[in-house]
Amino acid sequence: MKTNYEISPHLRALTHEQVTRLDQQATEGTSWEFYCGSYIHHPTVFGHKMSGLVQDAVDEYFAEIRVDNKNLVAGCSCGERTGICKHAVALLYGWVDDNDGFMNVADTLERLRHKNKDDLLEILGRIIMFDSRNLSFIEENAVADDLE
Ligand SMILES: [Zn+2]
Repeated sequence: MKTNYEISPHLRALTHEQVTRLDQQATEGTSWEFYCGSYIHHPTVFGHKMSGLVQDAVDEYFAEIRVDNKNLVAGCSCGERTGICKHAVALLYGWVDDNDGFMNVADTLERLRHKNKDDLLEILGRIIMFDSRNLSFIEENAVADDLE
């Protein structure tokens, strides 16, 4: 099985106006100001999904947006269950206003394609040392279910 990392056309087509509307519906328009005062670490985009660590003055939350049948589904470590929280909307503002700041997994993999095996093994070693759970991806036939 091959994971498709190409960015979903639904994510590419998102506009600032759409995010503003979502902001008004979901967070009463408070997310724009929050976005302006926050910082997004490691924003990443691939396939139907984007994620990032959204930091405000006090805390840091892992927010995620997924496109599911053309709908946006949000998840966030702040624990918001009833809808989309300001962290997720801030991530979306980041995407529509500054998508150059996002790490595009497809592009990164394309660059890796041109590296030699020793360099790749060096990178792989660092990834495993950073979090040994990553070892599970190396086992044969490992399927990254959560990338779907
Ligand atoms: Zn949140």
